[in-house]
Amino acid sequence: MKLPIYLDHHATTPVDPRVLEAMLPTFTTVFGNAASKTHSFGWQAAEAVDRARAEVATLIGAQPKEIVFTSGATESNNLAIQGAAEHFRERGDHVISVATEHSSVLDVLKVLEANGLRITLLPVDAAGLVDPAAVRAAITDRTILITVMAANNEIGTLAPMAELGRIARERGVLFHTDATQAIGKVPVNVEEWGVGLLSLSAHKLYGPKGAGALYVRSQNPRARIQPQMHGGGHERGLRSGTVNVPGAVGLGRACAIAREEMEAEARRVQGLRDRLERGLMERLEGVTRNGPPGRRLPGNANLAFAGVEGEALMMGIKEIAVSSGSACTSANPEPSHVLKAIGVRPELSRSSIRFGLGRWTTGEEIDFTIERVATVVTKLRQLSPVRAPAGRGA
Ligand SMILES: *Cc1c(COP(=O)(O)O)cnc(C)c1O
Repeated sequence: MKLPIYLDHHATTPVDPRVLEAMLPTFTTVFGNAASKTHSFGWQAAEAVDRARAEVATLIGAQPKEIVFTSGATESNNLAIQGAAEHFRERGDHVISVATEHSSVLDVLKVLEANGLRITLLPVDAAGLVDPAAVRAAITDRTILITVMAANNEIGTLAPMAELGRIARERGVLFHTDATQAIGKVPVNVEEWGVGLLSLSAHKLYGPKGAGALYVRSQNPRARIQPQMHGGGHERGLRSGTVNVPGAVGLGRACAIAREEMEAEARRVQGLRDRLERGLMERLEGVTRNGPPGRRLPGNANLAFAGVEGEALMMGIKEIAVSSGSACTSANPEPSHVLKAIGVRPELSRSSIRFGLGRWTTGEEIDFTIERVATVVTKLRQLSPVRAPAGRGA
């Protein structure tokens, strides 16, 4: 076993060697501009991009022409939400979303709000689930967009996508999902989910950074958005700018591998995740899970270690790469908005660690992690015994 151990697969994933192999020719021989129509260099690049487009489409049950390549999920979310708001400016000014979204959705919604739109951010329950009835009740005749993430990047909650899609469709409201964490981990189908727009990113499914896509429904009904990038009219006019051929090819190959291997991989990764949770809970008192006990992302374990600062724990287990459960940046030590939304107290939020298991995580690594975390938590608790809450004596 090699150290350090990588258990932060929600943040990013390594590129699969098969993905790298598919990408390599696009840096050297197949280097053409996919928009060059006058020679074989351009044609070859365009062919490679089209193959990739078909692979992305197949993984999510879409048609190739419905895939728009972008620089990643942040851009896809911006394009979807800003683009829809601009397109429907005349028809309405109300957007419905959920408190636990990624910042690349929440921050766009803040901009829209500053520009005069009304935003309804619905709460979630202790498992991180939004109530579909609350979504239905929030829709008005001014609602132009519902945007709900398919899988949460902190606690792994899987949203009731098909049900939300039915509600949006009944009311004729465009439905967007940030499916970045779901793609390649759980089955995704744009027809079953009834989405009009779907964001995804290559580097969360063993593809390269800086590549992603937005699915834009072409019929039943066609999803309409205003482009945000203006220029050469690439990607059916929805995303001008020379297509990142290596990125698109990498994303395509990553999607093809996911389609083949997702089911077996999810079973294996979930087994390791359960072993990690069980091991830590057996070895230590005061370990609680943040998020749903049942259905969730197979590689996700967000755990709180009562009486221990998450930062101190991470410093003590430097050979294991994890993320603070609060997912705060060092510049912004605010407790996580996701943990807050599911009702985790701030001090327990600061005691939380997010483990993210992935394609090459081994049982040996998990056993090492259980051992190290248990040792360090025990030591930290001995160094600074938790004081009982005021008013409870002792
Ligand atoms: C990582 C992530 C993003 C941002 O993706 P980039 O491709 O890095 O811009 C958006 N949403 C979720 C849920 C993510 O996990």
